[in-house]
Amino acid sequence: MRRRHRTMSHADNLSYFRSRQAAFVSIVAEWRDRPGMNRALLDDAFSDFEDVLAERLKRAQRVACDRGCATCCTIRVTATAPEVLNIAAHLREADPEVCGRLVWRIAEADFETRDADESGRVALRRACPFIDDDGACVIYPVRPLACRGHASHDRQACDRAACGEIAAIPYSIEHRTVRSLVQNALQSALRDHGLPWASYELNHALMLALADPELEQAWRQGLDVFADAQVDDVSPAEMASAFDMLKRARTASCDSGQ
Ligand code: SF4
Repeated sequence: MRRRHRTMSHADNLSYFRSRQAAFVSIVAEWRDRPGMNRALLDDAFSDFEDVLAERLKRAQRVACDRGCATCCTIRVTATAPEVLNIAAHLREADPEVCGRLVWRIAEADFETRDADESGRVALRRACPFIDDDGACVIYPVRPLACRGHASHDRQACDRAACGEIAAIPYSIEHRTVRSLVQNALQSALRDHGLPWASYELNHALMLALADPELEQAWRQGLDVFADAQVDDVSPAEMASAFDMLKRARTASCDSGQ
C-alpha cells in the first residue's frame, strides 16, 4: 500500500515563520552594535533549520542527496548579507594559501557568470568554486540557506537534468519550504531593524566582501554594500508586503491564545 505523507499545514508554516522572525529580531537587537551579529544569527538559523527539517523529514519521502554528489552545484546561488559576510569571515580565517586559491576560483566563477540570470546559469553549467576534487563543498558548515534548501528525491533525474535531457527534478518540498520560511523570517527581521535585507548573487557579493574588510561595519550601519550583486527575481516591494502580511496574519493557534 502506498504510504501517505502528512504535509505541514499553512498554519504550521505561518506559526514557524513568526517564531523564527521573532527570534531573529531579538538576536539583532542584542548584537546590533557588535561584530559577532552575523555569526549569532546564522548559528541560530542553521541549527533551527536542521532541527525542523529533520523533524519534518521523518514523515516525508527520503532524499537522494549525499556527500560527493555535486550535480546541482552549478546553479546560481543566492545569499543574504549575513550569509555572505559569514562566508567571507570563514575564508579569512582559513589557511592563507587555501584562502588565496579559493578567492582566485571565486573571481574566475564571478567573471564567467556575472549578469547571467537563473536560466542562463543553468545553461552555462559552471561549477560552483567551492566544490573540491571529491565533489564535496569546502564551505559546508557555512553554506547558505539556498544550498541547504536544495535536495532531490531522485539522483538519476538530477544527472539527466544536468545533461539537459529533462527539465524537472523531483525536489524535496520539505527542504524548500523550511529554507523559504527561515530565510524570509531572517530577511523580515533585518528589514524591521533597518538593515539591508535583499538576496545577492553569492560569487559577486563575496568578491565585494573579500575586497573590503570594513564592509561588515558599513552594512551594520544600514548601507546596502552588496547592492551591485542584488538579485531581484521578486521585487523588494512585493516581498516587503508579503512579510507584513505574514506578520499580521492570524493562525488558529494564535487566535486561541496557545
Ligand atoms: S556553496 Fe557548496 S553546497 Fe552551495 S553550490 Fe557551492 S559547493 Fe554546492
